[in-house]
Amino acid sequence: MASPRGTVDDSLWLDNARVVPSGTTYAPVDDSATGEEIARVRSASGEDVDRAFDSAARAQRRWADVSPADRVAVVGKATDILEGMADDLAVTMQAEVGTVASQVRGAQVGLGLTAMRLTAASALDAITAREKIGGSDVVREPAGVVGAITPWNYPLFQVALKVAPAIAAGCAVVLKPAEVAPLTTFLVAEAFAEAGLPAGVLNVVCGSGASVGSAIAGHPRADFVSFTGSVAAGRKVAMAAAQWGTRTSLELGGKSAAIVLDEDDEEKVWAAVRAAVRHTIVSCFGNAGQTCAALSRLIVPRRLLAEAEDEVRAVLEQVVVGDPFDAASTVGPLASREQRDRVAEHLRVAGETTGVRTVAAKDVSHLTRGWYVPPTVVVADDPGAPIVQEEVFGPVLAIQPADDEAHAIELAEGTRFGLIARVWTDDDARFERVARRLRVGGVIQSDAPTVWDAPFGGVKDSGYGRERGAYGVEEYLVPKSLQHRAPQA
Ligand code: NAD
Repeated sequence: MASPRGTVDDSLWLDNARVVPSGTTYAPVDDSATGEEIARVRSASGEDVDRAFDSAARAQRRWADVSPADRVAVVGKATDILEGMADDLAVTMQAEVGTVASQVRGAQVGLGLTAMRLTAASALDAITAREKIGGSDVVREPAGVVGAITPWNYPLFQVALKVAPAIAAGCAVVLKPAEVAPLTTFLVAEAFAEAGLPAGVLNVVCGSGASVGSAIAGHPRADFVSFTGSVAAGRKVAMAAAQWGTRTSLELGGKSAAIVLDEDDEEKVWAAVRAAVRHTIVSCFGNAGQTCAALSRLIVPRRLLAEAEDEVRAVLEQVVVGDPFDAASTVGPLASREQRDRVAEHLRVAGETTGVRTVAAKDVSHLTRGWYVPPTVVVADDPGAPIVQEEVFGPVLAIQPADDEAHAIELAEGTRFGLIARVWTDDDARFERVARRLRVGGVIQSDAPTVWDAPFGGVKDSGYGRERGAYGVEEYLVPKSLQHRAPQA
C-alpha cells in the first residue's frame, strides 16, 4: 500500500471504499522541498459531505452495539497495520509536510502510533466507567456522529488523536484532513478497513476549509465537531456548529513560553539558562516550527540575557537547514508556499519593530527551491511586539528578558494564547506555585519528557476541549444517568 500520487480522483472514502466524489475541483499537494506538485486531490461537494454523514449515521448505531473491548481491539489492530506501513507513512509525510528524515520517524510516525496505542490502552476504562450518585447509575454512551477537521502539521498524529478515541468510544466519523497534506489519511482509512472496522464508521472527505470544512462543521447530522487548526477557522467552526446546538472541541494555536526562573545559586541558574536555550530551540525548530505546542518564546532573567544569546549562537551553528530526505538536515522547509509566505511576513515585520533585534539567523539563500525560511532567534523587549503576540508557526524564537519572577509570569501571561508552558527550576514547590498561576492547559517542569496520555488542550484563544489518553476518549462520550425505582445493591 502506498499513498496516492498524481491525480487522485477517487478521493472520497465512503463505506470502506475509494469513490469518485461529485465535486469537480482539485486541490494541489506540493512536495515541500521542491515546490513541485506531487498530487492533485479531487474535492468533495456538499452532496458528498451529505453522503458521508448518511453513511456515518447508518453505521454508528450498529457500531455502538459492538462491545467496547472489540471496538478498542480494532484500534489496536489498525495501529499494528499502520506500524507495518511506517516506511510509506514516513515518505509521505516527508514530502507533504517537509519533516526532516531525522525527525519523521519519531515526531510524525512514532507520535501518531503512540497516540493510537495510548488511546487503546486507556479507552476501555473510560468507556465502561460507571459511577453511583444516590439512586442513579451514571454510564457513558457514544457521542454519536462526529465531524473531525484536522491541520497539516502532523497528518498522522492529528488524525489519530480524533479518529482513534472516536472509534473506540463507539462513534462514527466524517473526517476532513487539511488540503495541504491529505495523503497520509488514505493510509489511515485503509488500515482501519483492513483491521475490520465496519463500512461507514470512518468516512473521509477532501477539500478546502471554506467549502468542505464548513459543510462538516455546520452539518445537521453532526453530534459533535472536533477541530484542530487556527483561531480564525476555529471560531467559524464553532459558529457553524452553533446553529444546530452542536457541541465542539477546538484545539487552536499557541505562543507557548519556556520560563527560566532566577535563583541565588549562580552555577545552577547558568546551567538552567543553557539547558533551556537548547531545549527550547529544539522545541521551536522541530518540524520547522509547525507545532501548536512549540515553545516559541523563552523568558530568561534579564541579567543573564547575554549568556542566553551566546548559547543561542552556539546552538544555531549546529542547525542544518536542508532537504528533508538528507540525513544531515535538522530543519526542513515549511509545508506550503502559503505558510512560507506567512512566516516570511512575520520575519519582515519583526525586522522593522522597535525593541526587537535578531540574535542569530541561518542563511537559506542557497535553497532556491521549496518552502524554506531562515530559522531565527530574536530578543523582544517589548511585550506588545507582533513577534511576541502572534503565532508564527515557523522556526522563529522570541526571547523576552524578565526583571524578576513576577515579571516573568506577567510576560508569559501576556498573550491571548494559553496552550502550554515550561518552567525551569529544580524546586518542585516553586514549579507548582508558578505553574498554578499560568492560565494554560498544561505546564511541564524544566526538561521533563512530555507525558503523551496526559490531557492536552488550551484555554483562552488556544481553545477548549482535551485530547490524548482517557481525557481524549471522554470527549467522545456523554454521561447518561440511569435512575432505578429502588436503589440497586
Ligand atoms: P487552518 O485553520 O487554516 O486549517 C485547519 C483545518 O481547518 C484544515 O483542514 C482546513 O481546511 C480547515 N478549515 C479552514 N477553514 C475552515 C472553516 N471555515 N470551516 C471549517 N474548516 C476549516 O490551520 P492550518 O493553517 O492548517 O494549521 C495551522 C494552525 O493550526 C496554527 O494556528 C496552529 O497553531 C493550529 N494547530 C493547533 C493545534 C492544537 O492542537 N492546538 C495543532 C495543530 C495546529
